[in-house]
Amino acid sequence: MNHSASLRAALGEVPVVVRESVALAPLTHVRIGGPSAFFVEALTLDGAAATVRTCRELDVPLHVLGGGSNLLVADGGVEGVVMTLSRLDSLVRDGTAIAAGAGVSLASLMRGTREIGLAGLEVLCGVPAVVGGAVAMNAVTRGGSTFDVLASVTIVDDTGEIRVLERGDLTPGYRDGGLGDFIVLERSSSCTKTTRRASMPASPIRCAAAMRPSPCLAAASGACSRTPTAPPPDSSSRPPAAS
Ligand SMILES: Cc1cc2nc3c(=O)[nH]c(=O)nc-3n(C[C@H](O)[C@H](O)[C@H](O)COP(=O)(O)OP(=O)(O)OC[C@H]3O[C@@H](n4cnc5c(N)ncnc54)[C@H](O)[C@@H]3O)c2cc1C
Repeated sequence: MNHSASLRAALGEVPVVVRESVALAPLTHVRIGGPSAFFVEALTLDGAAATVRTCRELDVPLHVLGGGSNLLVADGGVEGVVMTLSRLDSLVRDGTAIAAGAGVSLASLMRGTREIGLAGLEVLCGVPAVVGGAVAMNAVTRGGSTFDVLASVTIVDDTGEIRVLERGDLTPGYRDGGLGDFIVLERSSSCTKTTRRASMPASPIRCAAAMRPSPCLAAASGACSRTPTAPPPDSSSRPPAAS
């Protein structure tokens, strides 16, 4: 059996969805780059852990894709497995604690907590990321950081074991969650109850304004976005209005 065939067979035993030669460009913000040889969607925490074990046993490189806002994919594509945790998208509340799967977008997490009167996560408003990518990269804004109200992180380590790390176990650095090769599966946060809705901008336009990239980030990442104030695409070709 060749390398791909044995990987295909092994992943067939694991609770994941597997596809081959999947274009990665549409899954990143800059929208460039080639396909991944194998693309795995983990459906459960165990599926993610089993994928780690399988890749380790077969000595196949494993890469994790979050929201794709801090990734550049090579034109030649990516060998081995690219795993997405986008299906780990549960949000579970218990009092002021909230547990979010790695695939939950920060925007959904903030909306979810704001709607139930919990504060603390809105400091991340404006960062395009999912929970896993934000923890891995220690996303920050002027208002605060990913780790501010973080209570614990559920990870799968490089042997495929699922573990819970408490906040005190973690030593995040600048734009680095300090987790090394661990893969983030879930984060738990200790929010605070607020009598008014948390301070995230309430209207979509105010939130869009808050999420507009700074010129230097936009230039560095090549990110382009349509904003509510942008002129329509064909405005330059219109004749000037009669005076
Ligand atoms: C327009 C724009 C604005 C931005 N503004 C900010 C900002 O204000 N503050 C800021 O800090 N950053 C900012 N960024 C950068 C980016 O949003 C952050 O780095 C973010 O944390 C990336 O998250 P992601 O989910 O998109 O991860 P991805 O880009 O998909 O992945 C980034 C890295 O994290 C790894 N990773 C992803 N998921 C996991 C996981 N579950 N477990 C382990 N590793 C994982 C990936 O393998 C990769 O190495 C901005 C980017 C853009 C394009």
